[in-house]
Amino acid sequence: MKPTSFDGMTKAPHRTAQLTARWRWLSFGVRAEDTATQVRKIVQVNAGVWLLIGTVLIFNALFWLIGNEALIQSGLWQWPVMLAAPTVWWLNARRHLHAARWLMILLAMVDCLLAVAGGQGTASTVHVYFLLFAVMTPTLFAVEEWPATLILVVTNLGMFLALQFGHWPAHPAFALLDAHTQAMMIQSMVVSCVLILILMTMLTEIAAADNENRLIRLAETDPLTGLPNRRQFRQALEAEGSRMAREGGSFVLGVFDLDHFKRVNDEWGHDAGDQALVHIGHVVQGQLRAYDLVARTGGEEFVLLLPHTDLAEARLVVERIRQALEKDPFTYSGQARVITVSIGLALVSDAATMDQRLRQADEAMYQAKHEGRNRVCCAP
Ligand code: GH3
Ligand code: MG
Ligand code: MG
Repeated sequence: MKPTSFDGMTKAPHRTAQLTARWRWLSFGVRAEDTATQVRKIVQVNAGVWLLIGTVLIFNALFWLIGNEALIQSGLWQWPVMLAAPTVWWLNARRHLHAARWLMILLAMVDCLLAVAGGQGTASTVHVYFLLFAVMTPTLFAVEEWPATLILVVTNLGMFLALQFGHWPAHPAFALLDAHTQAMMIQSMVVSCVLILILMTMLTEIAAADNENRLIRLAETDPLTGLPNRRQFRQALEAEGSRMAREGGSFVLGVFDLDHFKRVNDEWGHDAGDQALVHIGHVVQGQLRAYDLVARTGGEEFVLLLPHTDLAEARLVVERIRQALEKDPFTYSGQARVITVSIGLALVSDAATMDQRLRQADEAMYQAKHEGRNRVCCAP
C-alpha cells in the first residue's frame, strides 16, 4: 500500500516528532499529557538554565579579554551558580516542576548578587538583571502559583531599587577601567537583558503558535482515522467554490458509504469496525491526487472533493479507489475480508449550487446501493 501523506493520518505523529525534535534541549521533564501552558513553562525554565550558563560564559570571556581584576573576579564568583544550574533540569526531569521554577529564579538572583559582590558592585549596573527577573517571573510560574509570582516580583523589584539607590561599591580595580570601557560595561548589561527578554518572548510566541496549530489540527481532524473532518471539508468546499467563482472550471463532489459495514461490527466486533474505517481511510487516501481531499463526515460516511476535475476524470479516480479496496482486503485477527464502498458523484460548475449538488451526490450514492453496491453512480 502506498504510504499515506495526507493531512491528518500522518500529521499527528509527525508533528509530535517535530516538536520533540525542536525542543529536545529544552524539554527535560515534558510529558505527553502536559497542557500547552505547562509545556511552555517547563520549556522556559529549561531555557532559563541555558541562558544563565551562556550569559555567565560570555561575560567571563569578555572580562578576561578586558583583563580587569574586578571584572574577572566577579565573573569567577558566578561559576558555582552556573555549575549548579543544571540541577534545575534534573528537578524538571524528576517532575519537581515547582521547585525547578523556584530554583531557576533563585539561582539567577544569587548569580546577579555574586556579580555585584564579586567585584562589579553597582558600577556596571549589573543589577538591572533584577528587573529582568521580575518581568520573567510571571511567565515561568502558573497563574495558580500567583503567591510565588508575587513574592518573587516584589523581591526582585526591591533588590533592584535597593541596589540602585543604595549603591554597592565596586572592587577598587574597577576604577582602573577607562571611561569608555565603563560605559560599554553598562550598555552591555542593559543590552544583554533586552536580548534575553527577546529570546524568552520568541520562545513564548513559538510555543503559542505551535499550540494554535495543534488546536486547529484537532478541530479539523477526525480522531479515529486522522482524516479531515466535516469542518475541514466545509472549509475546503467554500475555498474551492470561491476559487471556481473567480477562475471558472468545475470540480466534483463524491459521497461514499461502506457496504454492509454493520456485518463487520456484528461479526468481528466494534473494535474491528473501527480499524476497518482506518484501513479504508488509508487505502482511499493512497489513491488520491495531492490536491484531492477525503473527509470522514459521519460514522461510515466519507466525502471526496476533487478540484479541477470533470465527471469523466472523477469516475477514473473513484474507480481506482473502488478497485484498490477490492484488492486490499481488511485483515483482523488473521482473517481477511474485502470491504467495498458505494460511491455517488456530482459535478459542481456553479458555486451557488454546491450544497444542492452535495445532496445529489448523496442521492447518487443511495442509487449505487440500490443497484447492488460496490459501484459508482453519477448525479444527472
Ligand atoms: P449499507 O451497505 O446499506 O450501507 O449497509 P451498512 O451495514 O453499512 O449500513 P448501516 O447504515 O445499516 O450501518 C452502518 C453501521 O456503521 C452501523 C454503525 O454501527 C456502524 N458505524 C458507524 N460509525 C461507526 C464507527 O465509528 N465505528 C464502528 N465500529 N462502527 C460504526
Ligand atoms: Mg454502510
Ligand atoms: Mg451508512
